[in-house]
Amino acid sequence: MQRYGRAEKMKRSIYIIGGGASGLSAAIAAARAGAAVTILERQARVGKKILLSGNGRCNLGHTGHEFSHYHGTLPQLSRILQHFDTEAFFLQLGLYVRADSEGRMYPFSNMAASVLDALRMEVQKLKITVRTDMMVTDLLPQKNGSWKILTQENHSLTADAVIVAAGGSAAPSCGTDGNLLPVLERLGHRIVKPRPALCPIPSDAARLRALKGMRVRAAVSLLADGTVCAAETGEVQFTENALSGICVFNLSRFSASSKKEMALSLDVLPEAWRSAEDGGMAELERLVQIRGEMPCGELLSGLLPKRVSEVCVKEAVGTVSAKTADIFSHKKNRMLLFNLLHDWRFPVTGTAKFAQAQVTAGGVSGQSITQTLSSNVQQNLYFCGEVLDADGDCGGYNLDWAWASGAWAGRHAASPAVQKPERPRRS
Ligand SMILES: Cc1cc2nc3c(=O)[nH]c(=O)nc-3n(C[C@H](O)[C@H](O)[C@H](O)COP(=O)(O)OP(=O)(O)OC[C@H]3O[C@@H](n4cnc5c(N)ncnc54)[C@H](O)[C@@H]3O)c2cc1C
Repeated sequence: MQRYGRAEKMKRSIYIIGGGASGLSAAIAAARAGAAVTILERQARVGKKILLSGNGRCNLGHTGHEFSHYHGTLPQLSRILQHFDTEAFFLQLGLYVRADSEGRMYPFSNMAASVLDALRMEVQKLKITVRTDMMVTDLLPQKNGSWKILTQENHSLTADAVIVAAGGSAAPSCGTDGNLLPVLERLGHRIVKPRPALCPIPSDAARLRALKGMRVRAAVSLLADGTVCAAETGEVQFTENALSGICVFNLSRFSASSKKEMALSLDVLPEAWRSAEDGGMAELERLVQIRGEMPCGELLSGLLPKRVSEVCVKEAVGTVSAKTADIFSHKKNRMLLFNLLHDWRFPVTGTAKFAQAQVTAGGVSGQSITQTLSSNVQQNLYFCGEVLDADGDCGGYNLDWAWASGAWAGRHAASPAVQKPERPRRS
């Protein structure tokens, strides 16, 4: 039998459910604060999703936390983010970070594997126990404030405190499918229904067929019953049955939650045209003059990819082969095209699946969570990461939240009496 020294014996035992981004961060913080930490991970290895993130480059954070990029029901989110410095955290692990012109941070190596390696090395250094292929199925509060943890593999484990870092329901192939939400609800927590976010927005497949593979820069508005409910600008990609791209991803959380009739409206004219007093009509008329002898399908060539240009003209005036001058010398036809280019509508025909989503909107509600990310209905139970009802836009905001909330929950779980946060990142 293994013998422990007196100090070892008195260590607070913390079990962390989930070895993803927030679980690894929580484990490091709790171990640094003196706890005996064990990670329980249902997959064969930890950090699978980190490896997929940022297309294998891992956009691990953003230089500004900018709280307007976050959504959900967690009032404590801004305070937690303010007290965490992602770059400093990784520098402490020996991982150098660089930011692109838009503030998105990546490992210097541009490889997600280096992020996971840095975390794993620290886990090893701090002697954190990692038990993989362990799927937690139930949590049972004990009379003395401790927890019994049951696993699918028939283990029954005892912990002084538990941190739930089991992620959301997005990308279920990474082990995240919301499996613990019913357990957490039964324990008295309010759950905001999970919805896919940061995902493509499905639209009319028959109409998209001609556009598949094309990309345009556009000002995109999401309309609910004809009224703009959110807007973004950026590159839109057309897939065989959906609109995609970062700006569409950022709008997807709003389309998934609504029962209203939803549509996307694309303004595909250049920004300078859009902001001109006449909305760019004079420029369009100039093009008609220059290309009057050409087939009208080529009118917008150079402004939009050829295939997109043809689809727009066809949808506006019903032909791409007639001579430009014959069609667009008529003001009515110029107006039809002008209006379409400013407000190219795509009906939202459904919700993307969790398998296509990068994050989950919804989860354990802020109503059930204290300032320290502990449960306000159960003792010695903490939460971090995407299992909470907090999600961010594209750009590193979600991993920022995972590291920050993990560190916060880990530190407080290890020393529940200590409420004092770390030195603030910004005054
Ligand atoms: C393809 C893709 C790309 C992304 N790219 C970026 C990016 O570049 N930048 C960014 O900021 N965000 C990105 N994200 C989002 C980001 O990865 C997540 O928000 C973040 O990983 C959430 O961390 P988490 O610890 O809460 O959950 P996860 O990292 O999902 O980890 C949860 C872990 O819990 C385990 N688990 C679940 N249930 C149990 C159970 N019952 N018992 C034991 N273990 C369990 C899972 O197997 C998993 O390993 C991306 C997401 C995807 C899917």
